[in-house]
Amino acid sequence: MKTRTRVTWSNVIEKHQVEPFKYLIPGSLQDIVAAVREAEECGHRIRAVGSGHSYSDVAITDGLLVDMSRLCQMLRLDKNKLHRSQQEKYLVEVEAGITVESLNRKLDRRGLALINMGAINEQTISGAIATGTHGAGRDLPALSGMVRSLVLVASGGKVYRIEPSEGFTDPEKHTNADIELIQDDETFRSVVVSLGCTGIVYSYILEVRPRYWLYENRRPEKWSEVRRKLANGTMFDDYPITINGQSVEYPVRSLFIVVNPYERKGDHTCMVARTFEVEKFHFRTLRDRTRNILASIVSNIPLAYRISLFVVNHLPRLVPAALERSVTALKDATYINKSYKVLFQGFEYVASQGHGAEFAYNRQETRYLEVMDEIFAKVKQLSEKYKLYPSSAPTLRFVKASPMYLTPEYNTDVCYIGNPVLVQQKGAALILNEYQDIHLEAGGKPHWGKITNRLEGRTKLIRQWYPKFETWRQVMLRFNPKRTFLNGFAERMRLDEP
Ligand SMILES: Cc1cc2nc3c(=O)[nH]c(=O)nc-3n(C[C@H](O)[C@H](O)[C@H](O)COP(=O)(O)OP(=O)(O)OC[C@H]3O[C@@H](n4cnc5c(N)ncnc54)[C@H](O)[C@@H]3O)c2cc1C
Repeated sequence: MKTRTRVTWSNVIEKHQVEPFKYLIPGSLQDIVAAVREAEECGHRIRAVGSGHSYSDVAITDGLLVDMSRLCQMLRLDKNKLHRSQQEKYLVEVEAGITVESLNRKLDRRGLALINMGAINEQTISGAIATGTHGAGRDLPALSGMVRSLVLVASGGKVYRIEPSEGFTDPEKHTNADIELIQDDETFRSVVVSLGCTGIVYSYILEVRPRYWLYENRRPEKWSEVRRKLANGTMFDDYPITINGQSVEYPVRSLFIVVNPYERKGDHTCMVARTFEVEKFHFRTLRDRTRNILASIVSNIPLAYRISLFVVNHLPRLVPAALERSVTALKDATYINKSYKVLFQGFEYVASQGHGAEFAYNRQETRYLEVMDEIFAKVKQLSEKYKLYPSSAPTLRFVKASPMYLTPEYNTDVCYIGNPVLVQQKGAALILNEYQDIHLEAGGKPHWGKITNRLEGRTKLIRQWYPKFETWRQVMLRFNPKRTFLNGFAERMRLDEP
């Protein structure tokens, strides 16, 4: 195992930094076991860290920080050890530190693909799963919904393979005496999304699918119309796309809606990105194979970002018009590619200069639409009264219900409202606080990897939102009785308290 001291680790937006007592880079399951034992022997805390793409300090400890980057391989999955019913499925076993980007490439080489993913691919699979990272797709799960089995190193360095009750591995064929097999829904549903509090995950078995192709259409629309269609449920109706010169009504796979919060001519402009699953066919033009080239270039060069930041901080009155232009600039009638290339939203540089809050709402209720109205009113108030112009456009994405106890979409189909803000915008913290307060008041449940500071002091809400919280807590304490895997974030959220 590689060990380093006096390393300063910081998350990607450089808001949270820590100089851990030890920085460990394990190269095997045994290394993780040794690290956990060492931490407990010296009374230190220990926590795994992925790519540091969480905006909060959820990944931080000043004890032993475990960098998962060397544990990034695909493992050989012996399907003969699985129940017969599972053997026909498309399954892969991966080490937990593999990034989504690397996993996509490796799957593609095998003719496979992830069922869905978030808007970027820099996260590790374990970091993304641990915080409930999701993409868009009304009938598609978050990444945690693809986990079928995982190997966890818990207190004392004890290793478990954890699976649902219905059984995945055939217990008769589980012969590894060093790994205890637990097949239990309550345990599985608690551990998959557990913010690193139940231990360190070494590997996952994920259900994937054969490689597939997506068609993306991005079109400016008026919020009043989109809002009406969301309210009456017609937004997901089949939609006409052009395939080989023919207009065809196609089922919508996902919606990603970006809304300019500033009103223009009595309405708000949205960019609606719809994706459709299509058969592979020959592209006729380069434009079909690429996203809006200008928008892609502009969103990936630091200079464009610096200009935006200058405008936001020194010429804030220009923000509404600038946002209008950047929302409409995303338009692109046709982009067709392999699934993971389309799912990656591609504004890499600019995205990493932003941070934000994101909250989930029951999709069947229209409360989330009223919340959007409240956000528009807040933006108007901040800009007109206080000359503070929020710099980014809110987003809407839809995610299928999940059985994992601590995901915002637990047992409920949801709409996530995202509120990004440029990290270096003056007043960014205040804007984010205002957004969070609207959401918390409205009953939205926060994404664990995004900004959640306004939840501090209101942690009773977590018990209200998550009916299985107490079960989660009991499972967490079973694997973490000495609270070795807790950190400041978990304590402020009072995750170990009944
Ligand atoms: C530019 C950008 C775009 C984003 N887009 C999306 C999006 O589209 N959808 C979305 O839902 N989220 C999105 N996020 C949020 C991001 O996906 C999550 O915060 C995710 O957790 C980050 O993964 P990571 O590998 O960086 O993990 P980290 O932030 O490093 O860690 C996250 C948590 O996972 C734990 N952890 C990591 N590895 C392990 C392990 N092996 N065992 C146990 N615990 C572990 C850590 O302790 C920590 O609690 C975005 C973030 C950024 C910066």
